[in-house]
Amino acid sequence: MAIVTKVKVSWQGVCASTLLRLMKRLLVLTGLFVAIIGKETFKGHQVLRITGKNELHHALLKELTEMEHLQLDVWREPTGLSIPVDIRVPFIHLQTVKASLEAEDIPYSVMIEDLQVVLDKEMEHMRYPATESKNTDDYVYSRYHSVEEIYSFQDMLVRENPNLVRKLTIGRSYEGRPLNVLIFSTGGTNRPGIWIHFGIHSREWITQATGTWVAKKIVTDYGKDPGLTDILDHFDIFLQIMVNPDGYQYTHTTDRMWRKTRKPNLGSTCVGTDPNRNWDAGFGAAGSSDNPCKQTYHGPTPHSESEVQSIVDFVKSHGNLKAFIDIHSYSQKLMYPYGYTKTPCKDQRDLHELAGKVISNLATMYGTPYRYGSVITTIYQASGITIDWAYNQGIKYSFTMELRDTGRYGFILPANQIIPTAKETWLALKTLMQHTKD
Ligand SMILES: [Zn+2]
Repeated sequence: MAIVTKVKVSWQGVCASTLLRLMKRLLVLTGLFVAIIGKETFKGHQVLRITGKNELHHALLKELTEMEHLQLDVWREPTGLSIPVDIRVPFIHLQTVKASLEAEDIPYSVMIEDLQVVLDKEMEHMRYPATESKNTDDYVYSRYHSVEEIYSFQDMLVRENPNLVRKLTIGRSYEGRPLNVLIFSTGGTNRPGIWIHFGIHSREWITQATGTWVAKKIVTDYGKDPGLTDILDHFDIFLQIMVNPDGYQYTHTTDRMWRKTRKPNLGSTCVGTDPNRNWDAGFGAAGSSDNPCKQTYHGPTPHSESEVQSIVDFVKSHGNLKAFIDIHSYSQKLMYPYGYTKTPCKDQRDLHELAGKVISNLATMYGTPYRYGSVITTIYQASGITIDWAYNQGIKYSFTMELRDTGRYGFILPANQIIPTAKETWLALKTLMQHTKD
């Protein structure tokens, strides 16, 4: 009780009602401005790393992130004591947020000085080289690509490897884009399958880039790498590089920090649902939000997003998937169910042991350290998440991975880290697939 009262008193000075009204007006103006000029700017926005030292700090941080008028964008959620929280703070609220942290003696550091400067560098890199690739050999894997480029990559890969790769459209996004899955198969009927998807959160660009590299790696190594060849001789691999193409498109055209889908919400001006809170597994419980304006909004009903429903339908109709891997960024973690409950899943011991093996294999490439465990113990309580649903469907090897980095660049991982990230992730995926096969 004492904590709650203290929290209320502490932040109340910050949000006087006049200030709130002004900020709301400013919000509307910002919205109009973006609508007119087209692209959201992050000039002066900083990403702060905040490390609470005690329970009071932790409670205050939670309260702070819930204050809508501050327009904070949580990059890394508050989880436990002494675990850092990363928050993007708009320029206009920097003074307020910093003053509040200092008043409460909560330690913080600035991870990104000016987000727009980092984004401008990213854009510069994307402009070069601008030539369109004619085949998957001259596709530039070391840069980030647009939605169209990734679609055309998929078509080229299928065209070049007709005996190994097929493309299946499992549905359409809210804005009507095809939801494509690449099927790597060497024959047989209804062979057991391994599902790997990327980019359910659109701003996590390293994931779509890694997915593209992995697709090419599979066709390159089949018949040469005995481990992969053995996997593909017994299993089909299903790869969805862009689970959320509308969101991904939006990160290119309008708002680089967009995470959710692009479907409007009834009765709200805020758009989009968090597709990794939209699954029918602990749906709507703690660890997701019922506020359409929040980054973790779970949506009106389970599977309300066609991007999610399409995977649900596919998984059910296939009926023989043995592994299901959901790739995110950032924070370098490998996790297994559950996110919505502390009750350990029945394969906890197996999955834990395997996760340990996977991350030590991953580290053999560049020494990149990963942490591992169940979602709820490793990051935070999260309900309605992808892998919990997959696991409850009977897919034992359900994992979620958070790729590089640990916050130096966060979602804006420089393009020169794409190939190293993809290479080490491939080692991890191969270990997971091999174990599933055995
Ligand atoms: Zn994510």
